[in-house]
Amino acid sequence: MSDGVEVNFNSNEGWSRLPGKTGCVLLTFDDGPGRQTADIVSILNHYDVKGLFFWQGHLLHHKRPFQNLLQSGHEIGTHAHQHVDLTRLKPEHVRYQLFTGKRELERLTGQKISYFRPPYGKINTTVRTVASELELTTVLWNISSYDWDPHMTAETIVERAANAGTNSIVLLHERKVTVQALPRLIESLRANGRHLLSRSDRLPFS
Ligand SMILES: [Zn+2]
Repeated sequence: MSDGVEVNFNSNEGWSRLPGKTGCVLLTFDDGPGRQTADIVSILNHYDVKGLFFWQGHLLHHKRPFQNLLQSGHEIGTHAHQHVDLTRLKPEHVRYQLFTGKRELERLTGQKISYFRPPYGKINTTVRTVASELELTTVLWNISSYDWDPHMTAETIVERAANAGTNSIVLLHERKVTVQALPRLIESLRANGRHLLSRSDRLPFS
């Protein structure tokens, strides 16, 4: 059970759990957009579950189904322009990564981008400061599905993530194995009594 990460309700530091008493679980999908985006959106829509996607600026392409994603009630945040460890960069390069990632996403979608997840979850004071200057709310996670690990199967992903407690934020990725695991993961979470944020629910971060 991976539910061991420090609970952190300070929005300046980054949310690793949902605030408040909603008792919900939020599914998040990193490292897109990519070939699995459409399938993930369609599964989420089928179950009426909201997804928060963190996209890399350099992967953006107008052919990826961002319109369907947004119109379906899901949300997109920035995962920086490139997938780099921001804590190893000089402040001006951190600024470039966040500013460019946000701007490119806003250009593509025509919407203001409000959410940010640092690659690898790596964050320090500089990254926090730049994120807050760009009016980005940092969203981390408390449950990792380990779906990025090539040794994980759909079954082991479901096993790990279906134990998520209330107010959990679950880290998933836009991968084929995640698409295979997703229907069973949603069903297992519901069977465990978890309420997943639905597409019409607002994200509870302030
Ligand atoms: Zn990532």
